[in-house]
Amino acid sequence: MTKYKLEYIWLDGYTPTPGLRGKTQIKEFDHFPSLEELPLWGFDGSSTEQAEGRNSDCVLKPVAVYPDPARKNGALVMCEVMMPDGVTPHPSNARATILDDEGAWFGFEQEYFFYKDGRPLGFPEHGYPAPQGPYYTGVGFKNVGDVAREIVEEHLELCLEAGINHEGINAEVAKGQWEFQIFGKGSKKAADEVWMARYLLLRLTEKYGVDIEFHCKPLGDTDWNGSGMHCNFSTKYLREVGGKEYFEALMAAFEKNLDDHIAVYGPDNHMRLTGKHETAPWNKFSYGVADRGASIRVPHSFVRNDYKGYLEDRRPNSQGDPYKIASQVLKTISEVDIKAVAAA
Ligand code: ADP
Ligand code: MN
Ligand code: MN
Ligand code: MN
Repeated sequence: MTKYKLEYIWLDGYTPTPGLRGKTQIKEFDHFPSLEELPLWGFDGSSTEQAEGRNSDCVLKPVAVYPDPARKNGALVMCEVMMPDGVTPHPSNARATILDDEGAWFGFEQEYFFYKDGRPLGFPEHGYPAPQGPYYTGVGFKNVGDVAREIVEEHLELCLEAGINHEGINAEVAKGQWEFQIFGKGSKKAADEVWMARYLLLRLTEKYGVDIEFHCKPLGDTDWNGSGMHCNFSTKYLREVGGKEYFEALMAAFEKNLDDHIAVYGPDNHMRLTGKHETAPWNKFSYGVADRGASIRVPHSFVRNDYKGYLEDRRPNSQGDPYKIASQVLKTISEVDIKAVAAA
């Protein structure tokens, strides 16, 4: 038998964005544990905005498990938060009720800033570094500094070793800003992996004395870019049937549901979706071929391929909850063609 270190990870009850929490328990197994073998566990919900002081126990229900590459005999256990009965989802548990469909594929482009001493990594103590331009996909100390790349490479390695479908990295437009992409089939699988990749990044950067700033516009009303989490999506129907008529009906539904999308696309998005810096204004829906200033960008390949393939919703932001984002995309799609999305 081997003693495994099981890191149970969950989302707390903070609003508007939940925070990640985790605690470890040691259990003996004679092999790497499967999801079914992982027991329910409890925690004190009064410390995470998930319960009142009295009667404060909440239950952690494992829903996905990954090897933890940073620990000998470690497992990362993604959990849903349940009520004390162990079966009723806690109100903060969005994952339990979202729409899912394994034919729906999602690619999230998570942008974020490294922060140190209250400012983006590489910013001088006073004022600003040289204006944006050379930083996006840049190389060299004056563009990316001396530690950021070490962190993103280490993070990439951790994700791949954990079996997370990490698809790539790039330095972003602002100094100290980076992006990674996560792809998954099914909204729960893709979103679980985004949350787990966020967890690994936050845990990794502790030892560097660096924070991750997920806010969508940390530098406020300046010319410095904000952070998004573009949501690329396709359904089986979009990939295999598609067509111009269907696409236009889909875009009409996205326009009609604008408020529902913005409501779950992350807090403070009006600060970021201003119409400048390759963003569309938050209160006006638009789409366009290869248009990075549209709400939804339609890849050239989509049009060339008789309106089949994937689309990119550019509005979700870096602090958005990928469970809710994916679910809202599926909800709007299912209004156009119920057959395009299987029931959850
Ligand atoms: P850009 O920065 O040009 O917007 P990226 O290369 O950063 O694009 O991200 C593109 C994303 O699209 C990737 O995460 C990829 O997984 C995703 N993607 C590609 N094909 C599909 C598809 N058929 N369905 C859903 N997502 C897809
Ligand atoms: Mn990208
Ligand atoms: Mn980007
Ligand atoms: Mn993009």
